[in-house]
Amino acid sequence: MLAAGPAGAAEGGPYDVIVIGAGFAGITATRELRARGKRVLLLEARGRVGGRTYVDTFGGHQVEMGGTWVETTQPHIAAELTRYDIALTEEHPVDRVLLPTPSGPKEFTPEDAFNRTGAVLERLFDGSRQYFERPFEPLYRSDLLQSLDRLSLRDRLNQLGLTAEEELLVNGQTAIYSGGSSTQGALTMLSHWWSLAGWSNQGWADTQRWRMTNGTSGLLDAMLADAKPVLRLNSPVASVTDTGSLVYVTLKSGVRYSATRAVVAVPVNVWPTIRFSPSLPAAHTTAGAQGIAVPNAYKMFIHAKAGAGKFSAQGAEGGSPIPMLMPFKETSQGLLYVAFSTDPTLDPADKAQVASAVRQLGAELDIIEVRAHDWGRDPYARGGWAFRKPGQLTSLYPSIHNTSGRVAFASGDVANGWSGFLDGAVESGLRAARQTLGLE
Ligand SMILES: Cc1cc2nc3c(=O)[nH]c(=O)nc-3n(C[C@H](O)[C@H](O)[C@H](O)COP(=O)(O)OP(=O)(O)OC[C@H]3O[C@@H](n4cnc5c(N)ncnc54)[C@H](O)[C@@H]3O)c2cc1C
Repeated sequence: MLAAGPAGAAEGGPYDVIVIGAGFAGITATRELRARGKRVLLLEARGRVGGRTYVDTFGGHQVEMGGTWVETTQPHIAAELTRYDIALTEEHPVDRVLLPTPSGPKEFTPEDAFNRTGAVLERLFDGSRQYFERPFEPLYRSDLLQSLDRLSLRDRLNQLGLTAEEELLVNGQTAIYSGGSSTQGALTMLSHWWSLAGWSNQGWADTQRWRMTNGTSGLLDAMLADAKPVLRLNSPVASVTDTGSLVYVTLKSGVRYSATRAVVAVPVNVWPTIRFSPSLPAAHTTAGAQGIAVPNAYKMFIHAKAGAGKFSAQGAEGGSPIPMLMPFKETSQGLLYVAFSTDPTLDPADKAQVASAVRQLGAELDIIEVRAHDWGRDPYARGGWAFRKPGQLTSLYPSIHNTSGRVAFASGDVANGWSGFLDGAVESGLRAARQTLGLE
């Protein structure tokens, strides 16, 4: 990572802009503002940049503990990959897929599993070509969305009258993306991703296919080297005060900085922990109070002895606390699997508990070690990936993108396109920079 300290802009203040939060959204905004010659102070609470992306080492491999996969249907992140010549690596294909059935988990060929789940997903998202006619302008058909946005994924599953077998093929996905239960997530969130991915099962599958060969940190380092802001790590912000002529940003330590403008690029779930004066606009207050990102989210790497092989597995809603698992890489001792959970009662440090959760998916793993990050209990994330609740799209958008006085907001949680993805974070950083420069 780039060292903190003065690099391009003069210190001392007042700065032109203070950017709060050095995830993809904040770093994108910083890079854009620096390109226009602005003196930017980038304040980051943690001792590292990257936010909900970070690279760790486990089982002898580089592992991404947060956001990872990118795709060419994601134009904002794709432009960054091209700009900095970032190489991508394709995930390994799997040998077999374990899916839940009414009589328990069963093994399918990857092609059969793809076709079976795809057929149900097509029905789940039927109509999305119309109601998300322009996926990057989510409210373009607000006439159709007003009533649809009230539906949870559970409402939609119930509407379809699926057989038990069909429902089991998809309710693990609808539940985990929603944060644990299909009642929590909006139909228009998952169907938005489906629409952005080109309304196809292949496009959908491809969103988990490519990762950055040198890790997300490689791209962030390139963006920061380009931007050369004054970067202050270990600087959690406590308050933001807009006097009308200057913005004062005060750290928890009491240190205060000033600038002509500010960009708040912390997760939406973190907004309520910062004191804003004047208080946030109504849409922002509501979004912060309701939360956008799922409240509990573990991403974990399971290092297991060789034997079970390169399988992927999906659980049923209300079944295994680990409803999503796939192979990652071979190691000298066996294999690394990547898995996700939204169950706050799961203790990933307890190998027996993890093995039991995997057993419920229909597989036996002889676990060597587990490495997990708990994004829900992380004070600077307060949640995992963004997943809107019923009603949030039509009630919060487009006001959620408004500035408040001299303060603009950037967050991958509330993008027009790929909310909950790196692409959305970059999109939001670009918008916040344009707003700050008076271009929008
Ligand atoms: C488990 C998991 C898996 C994911 N998988 C994918 C994936 O495969 N592909 C994909 O595209 N996306 C994925 N995502 C989503 C993606 O990681 C996020 O959408 C994206 O990283 C959000 O970027 P951001 O800059 O908006 O927010 P963040 O990355 O959260 O950045 C916000 C920054 O603000 C800082 N901050 C917080 N509070 C303060 C404060 N008070 N003062 C100063 N700084 C503060 C934080 O430390 C952080 O650095 C995943 C997310 C999770 C959690």
